[in-house]
Amino acid sequence: MEKVQQVYEGKAKKVFSTEDENLFIVSYKDDATAFNGLKKGTIAGKGAINNRMSNMLMQMLEKKGVPTHFVEELNDRETVVKKVSIVPLEVIIRNVSAGSFAKRYGVDEGIQFDEPTIEFSYKNDELGDPLINSYHAVALKLATKEEIETIKSMAFKVNESLIEYFKTLGIRLIDFKLEFGRLADGKIVLADEISPDTCRLWDIKTNEKLDKDRFRRDLGGVEDAYQEVMRRLMGE
Ligand code: ADP
Ligand code: UDP
Repeated sequence: MEKVQQVYEGKAKKVFSTEDENLFIVSYKDDATAFNGLKKGTIAGKGAINNRMSNMLMQMLEKKGVPTHFVEELNDRETVVKKVSIVPLEVIIRNVSAGSFAKRYGVDEGIQFDEPTIEFSYKNDELGDPLINSYHAVALKLATKEEIETIKSMAFKVNESLIEYFKTLGIRLIDFKLEFGRLADGKIVLADEISPDTCRLWDIKTNEKLDKDRFRRDLGGVEDAYQEVMRRLMGE
């Protein structure tokens, strides 16, 4: 499988068409951004780690019955995925208070919820990805009611599998963002990536942050944190 033409360059990945109209190749970059692109930098080795990690997690989720866009890892940075039409919603699941939740509601980070929560942001860079509820998403025709129900139940299922998986690696899954897309026949599948860029991952014993918050908050040790997650995933 070869790249034919770049169709999109995002903040963290490039997307290419292939000879197969139903397949794309994504290429992971080391570029990192935060705060809607205001903070920019690079995290050495991030592209390769996010590619490997996202692929491992998507394959694990497929085995648990969650359909994903994953097709084949080509090399350390590039993966063949099913081409989807992205539902322009960032689907955020939270198990523990952190980030914008803690800020918005004036609570500490680290409060364990009795039940996971879900929220949506409208994926729109110009508007700064505003929070949106499902009625507004339907009104704006971003997705149908049925698609939103499917997305919600898939997202909670992903959460259950990821919590359990990360626990075996000594990692507490705080929150994360998912994106879903439609295949040509309308079927909803999990797309984009699952990585330390899109999840908050804390060491179970020390609560040390092993994710992009180290970059967002200038905590240092960013590369080491990504490598540490990868090391645990590889079972080292
Ligand atoms: P952003 O667009 O937020 O800067 P990225 O740099 O990660 O993000 O770019 C990757 C883009 O590819 C995102 O817009 C994402 O929605 C999109 N995407 C992810 N998976 C697929 C897929 N299977 N088919 C089509 N587009 C995808
Ligand atoms: N997230 C993401 N992309 C975004 C916004 C959020 O991957 O554009 C992830 C983020 O890494 C965290 C979760 O979604 O794991 C919840 O993020 P939050 O709403 O707290 O926002 P932030 O603190 O990033 O402003």
